[in-house]
Amino acid sequence: MSQGKGWIGVDLDGTLATYGGWKPDGGVGDPVPAMVSRVRQWLQEGRDVRIMTARVCPNDLTGPDGPLAQRPIIEAWCLANLGKVLPITATKDYQMVELWDDRAVGVIPNTGQQASASDLVTAAKDVMDWINALAPYADAGAGPCPVFQRLEAALAPYA
Ligand SMILES: [Mg+2]
Repeated sequence: MSQGKGWIGVDLDGTLATYGGWKPDGGVGDPVPAMVSRVRQWLQEGRDVRIMTARVCPNDLTGPDGPLAQRPIIEAWCLANLGKVLPITATKDYQMVELWDDRAVGVIPNTGQQASASDLVTAAKDVMDWINALAPYADAGAGPCPVFQRLEAALAPYA
């Protein structure tokens, strides 16, 4: 995760909250525990986290499901589930450093190549193999390499 300045965009429907289709009252779904926990951690760390949602796209400001109607609904959801109201936007800017979104597809910069979790796991396994190959030379009776142990534990769920 990027640790620099800037804000993290978090999609609402299907990312931070469950989504199974538009509700008649325009309400937001139940919180997704893992994502809510992640956002709460970021907030504790002082990170700038913003809700990035098409619910406030400015196409129809005044409709019953438009941004003016949606803002208070989203704000209330934030307060109830995150403990504070986060900024809400539908617009990227140059300060946005990450976007967490169930529809977004990660791309490796300047390559056109899709970055997926499985690609990262493959790359990490390659690194582990490399470290493992060096271990006999580095150990010299000093015990298992701690870097290798940490990497092995991190990759265990993907084995
Ligand atoms: Mg979504």
